[in-house]
Amino acid sequence: MQETAELLKEHRLKATPQRIKIVSMLAEHGHISIEDLYNEMLKQFPSVSLATIYKNINQMIESGLIQEVKIPKTKSVFELIKEPHLHMVCDVCGKIEDICVGTDKIIEEAEKISGYRIKESFITLRGTCPDCQ
Ligand SMILES: [Zn+2]
Ligand SMILES: [Zn+2]
Repeated sequence: MQETAELLKEHRLKATPQRIKIVSMLAEHGHISIEDLYNEMLKQFPSVSLATIYKNINQMIESGLIQEVKIPKTKSVFELIKEPHLHMVCDVCGKIEDICVGTDKIIEEAEKISGYRIKESFITLRGTCPDCQ
């Protein structure tokens, strides 16, 4: 709890009970959709609205604490910002996992070929996870 409050303060966000709960759920689950977040929040804050959650999420995105992960053919999930990584999605059970594979070379190559200066990348790999094989 203490660490979560510190993390919020570092990002110039007031450590409200709802924000603390959102951040600790992201830390626990890794990736979570707005709907799942909302259902979990309701258990502790029965009067919370979906609009309030969106507002909090957007403030956390703006302050660079969390980011939206866009997964093709699936609803977006949110995660705490950490070192660059790729996402792997299991086609069978639908779980999303992080894999820390260096993307520098891919980005460098892409910049060289395209002439773009790349700011962001979202790389998703799909397949079958070890549990589902
Ligand atoms: Zn699986
Ligand atoms: Zn991730």
